[in-house]
Amino acid sequence: MAKRDIPLERVRNFGIMAHIDGGKTTTSERILFYSGKNYKIGEVHDGAATMDFMVQEQERGITIQSAATCVQWGNYRLSLIDTPGHVDFTAEVERSLRVLDGAVALYCAVGGVQPQSEQVWRQSEKYKVPKIAFVNKMDRVGANFYSVMDQMKNQLGANPVPVVIPIGAADTFEGIVDLIKMKALYFDQKSLGKTVIEKDIPEDLVEKAKEYRQKMVESAAEQDDALMEKFFAGEELTNDEIKKALRKGCLSRAITPAFCGTAFKDKGIQPLLDGVCDYLPSPLDTGAAVSQDNPDEKREVSDDEPFCGLAFKIMNDPKSGGKITFVRVYSGTLKLGEELLDSTLNKEQRISRLFRMHAAKQEPLDEAHAGDIVACVGLTETRTGDTLCDPEHPITLESIDFPAPVISVAVKPKSRGDNEKLGAALHALAMEDPTFVVTFDQETSETIIAGMGELYLEVIVDRLKREFNVDCDVGAPQVAYRETIQVSVENEYKHVKQSGGRGQYAHVCLRIEPQEPGKEFEFVNEVKGGVIPGEYIPAVEKGVKKALESGPLGGFPVVNVKATVFFGSYHEVDSNEFAFIECARQCFKQAFLKAKPQLLEPMMDVEVVVPEQYMGAANGSINQRRGRIEGMEDRAGVKLLKATVPLGEMFGYSNAIRTVTQGRGSFTMIFKQYEAVPRNIADEVIKKRVAEGKVRPSADC
Ligand code: GDP
Repeated sequence: MAKRDIPLERVRNFGIMAHIDGGKTTTSERILFYSGKNYKIGEVHDGAATMDFMVQEQERGITIQSAATCVQWGNYRLSLIDTPGHVDFTAEVERSLRVLDGAVALYCAVGGVQPQSEQVWRQSEKYKVPKIAFVNKMDRVGANFYSVMDQMKNQLGANPVPVVIPIGAADTFEGIVDLIKMKALYFDQKSLGKTVIEKDIPEDLVEKAKEYRQKMVESAAEQDDALMEKFFAGEELTNDEIKKALRKGCLSRAITPAFCGTAFKDKGIQPLLDGVCDYLPSPLDTGAAVSQDNPDEKREVSDDEPFCGLAFKIMNDPKSGGKITFVRVYSGTLKLGEELLDSTLNKEQRISRLFRMHAAKQEPLDEAHAGDIVACVGLTETRTGDTLCDPEHPITLESIDFPAPVISVAVKPKSRGDNEKLGAALHALAMEDPTFVVTFDQETSETIIAGMGELYLEVIVDRLKREFNVDCDVGAPQVAYRETIQVSVENEYKHVKQSGGRGQYAHVCLRIEPQEPGKEFEFVNEVKGGVIPGEYIPAVEKGVKKALESGPLGGFPVVNVKATVFFGSYHEVDSNEFAFIECARQCFKQAFLKAKPQLLEPMMDVEVVVPEQYMGAANGSINQRRGRIEGMEDRAGVKLLKATVPLGEMFGYSNAIRTVTQGRGSFTMIFKQYEAVPRNIADEVIKKRVAEGKVRPSADC
């Protein structure tokens, strides 16, 4: 049996999810510092942050890559999985959520729950990730722990339960009251907060602390019938009972235990780490890994099960010239040098180096066990999202759900000789991130890169230059339009060619129907009595899929359509696969144009923050851009304008909003959904595509 040094119950794989600038990097730094693996405390502004691997992250001050860092806290092993703060990098967020067991939802005590925090919260709910909350920046002017609690309730529908309350706020923020111990905790500044000093609760806070402890105890009792009875019988619950019940509530996602502090001023981090151990799940709580093909096929979280794991992150390692693959082990034991199966690709792979990443060093390992997060070298073909498993016991886990890109730009190397280098670099980057798509436009001979946001593509271009030494010219950003239909239509098409010798014959009847948004495409075969022989049905599907790639309106991908083949005919001699592909393609195209086709565009959730006197200007800037104002809120001395705006109208908005607010306005945006483009705008877009030669003119929409 394999050896493991830390029992599974004491393993925590967790991430910090936060809005950009909330203080995630600083908090991660402090976690490394207090857990003793980091020698020097790094500040973000001096660029010494250990978690920030990449140069441009340090320059921009945002965390792009997710990496896993391992620390020891008491007798627990914590793996901190770095999730990016900027929602442009939503694929990174999704992939880290998929492999962590629990998360710390971090909020700024002034900014509170911001739009991107809402999106990340929703993503984490989708993956059923239990969370605790940390309200950071309690030292800032305007900090308000209780208001953030209200925002969590109102905006996220969460049920936060404070397990600590702050002592003071802003420049009077001194420490916290631990509601379990009913003690005040202070963080000795001479030791950079390393020494925690326990004192009696200050006089003026005693009542409030009692009130909040009572609320906490009630929430705990609600999680457990036996405790509820005890509580109603007026008996005291022990601290141990309270903690266990809170843990139960946290794991079932009924409650979110909440903490507060200031990472920057070194207060409140150690209690947060205790909270990670006390309330967040161990791999055992997360449960068995399930096969995507058969829900009954599972791998229990145990070292004795066959090995299975998920590759969730690939990093180019300029030092070794190779790449490092981060793997979450769900079951069994992963051994150095053993043959593995990448079951997603159906290819054998082998690991040449295996290690655990600490803040300052890599710890070489011979084997990794269920629940571990490790870095591997040697997985040459494995891509992000692939399953790795024991070749004798193959299994494919549910792969990560990645959104389609909404924006693209053309890139061209500045020096002609770099074409090949560009291709290789883009290939490497696409292996890292499935939401990053590279295509080659035959007509214009341009390389097109597409992703989830403008900033994301900027980062890619920056990485091309720094990591791969390819300097590129970049075209104007293009919106990723889509095409769809509004009504169901049946259509018949015959493909008949008689050119000398052997002819071509295929005959297909298709029904096409609109689908719910999100359901990209479905193909159904309803052909009866072999009027189209079974062997040609895959060709019909292939033909329809070909038609989907480039829609008849503007050559954009077709989405949300169901296609059913229900009738047709064939010819003994003249029918072949090619004839059915071509026939189905044409049949679909005709049907599409009859089915009230429509152009769709990505709509963005936009939030503009401006001082009150600029509200009119901000409103105007949204209206000008075909935006819909969704609401207005007050936030710590400024106004917040919520709106839905087409992505195509948002290019250059950061300059525009600065200009109309004399530099005092700012905004954030994230992808919301696809919506129909108004007719006149659609006509313009299509006209432009025709002029560019991207599509042949066809019937109008
Ligand atoms: P991230 O974008 O979430 O990783 O946030 P960072 O950790 O980079 O922090 C963003 C900015 O907020 C930096 O300038 C930090 O120094 C600052 N910051 C982080 N934590 C605190 C805090 O507790 N209080 C104050 N006042 N500033 C903080």
